[in-house]
Amino acid sequence: MQLLNGKDVAAFHRNQVEQQIAAWKKQEIQPELAILLVGEDKPSAMYAKSMQKVAHSVGLKAEIYDRSADISEEELLALIDTLNTQPAVFGILPMMPLPSHIDTQRILNRIDADKDVDGLTDSSAARLFTGKKGFVPCTPRAVMAIFDYYQIPLAGKHVVILGRSNVVGKPLAQLCLNRNATVTICHSQTPSLQTFTKQADIVIAAVGRAGLVTKDMIKPGAVVIDVGINRVNGKTVGDVDFDGVSQVAAAVTPVPGGVGAVTTMMVLENTVYGASLND
Ligand code: NAD
Repeated sequence: MQLLNGKDVAAFHRNQVEQQIAAWKKQEIQPELAILLVGEDKPSAMYAKSMQKVAHSVGLKAEIYDRSADISEEELLALIDTLNTQPAVFGILPMMPLPSHIDTQRILNRIDADKDVDGLTDSSAARLFTGKKGFVPCTPRAVMAIFDYYQIPLAGKHVVILGRSNVVGKPLAQLCLNRNATVTICHSQTPSLQTFTKQADIVIAAVGRAGLVTKDMIKPGAVVIDVGINRVNGKTVGDVDFDGVSQVAAAVTPVPGGVGAVTTMMVLENTVYGASLND
């Protein structure tokens, strides 16, 4: 079984990001990633901090705009308007979820199309859907970066995706389709996941349920990508029973150290290179 090591993939992309930032430094250009953190959501606060740390480690300025949970929609829109107009801000990354009194999509759609580094606006989604260049959500991009790094072909393969969220499952399906895979999306209402996963050359789990994907669900020789992040007894685990699945799969991503390790680097890459890399 081959371990698909996200840290190696991230290191490869880090190198390219650092080179661009170093070149800009010589021209006294200091781009900024604006991280929007609203309310008290703990995982969001942790992700914002770790995102900032990784950004700083490649020499990219990253500012956390920390606002209280009772901020009004109008105040939040005004903040985005300000960030949209600041030339030094190359990317705007809102932490999700936003508080329930906020119309999330209205806020996201206010982000300037050129700064939508996590591909969250309706216009970015439409571009992906219609096959035009644009920003792609960073987690699906991370999965594609793993396929590319390990030269795993998608054309003609049957990819089964577990999960249909707007940020992971659906964009992933489109990206795999763009690479000529045959794609099946399973979700919470799919009866007998195993019927589908057993046929898959590639299984991508993006649900958020520890131990969902077991050895008996995987065709021998399949590739298994684990996007899930769950906390179990103080440990971070994915959706895949790693030890069991490793016995039958040809290649598996670990959690931690798999997709998540690449995702943060994709945010930085999008910030630095804009949408030009995405398709
Ligand atoms: P979500 O809650 O928005 O979506 C979960 C999806 O799983 C839904 O589409 C639902 O229909 C489906 N689902 C629920 N129960 C199911 C079941 N029993 N069988 C099949 N499908 C089922 O979550 P999300 O934002 O898409 O995230 C999914 C997972 O990926 C979470 O664990 C999240 O923490 C993780 N995640 C990881 C990264 C990363 O960088 N590694 C980034 C984003 C999300």
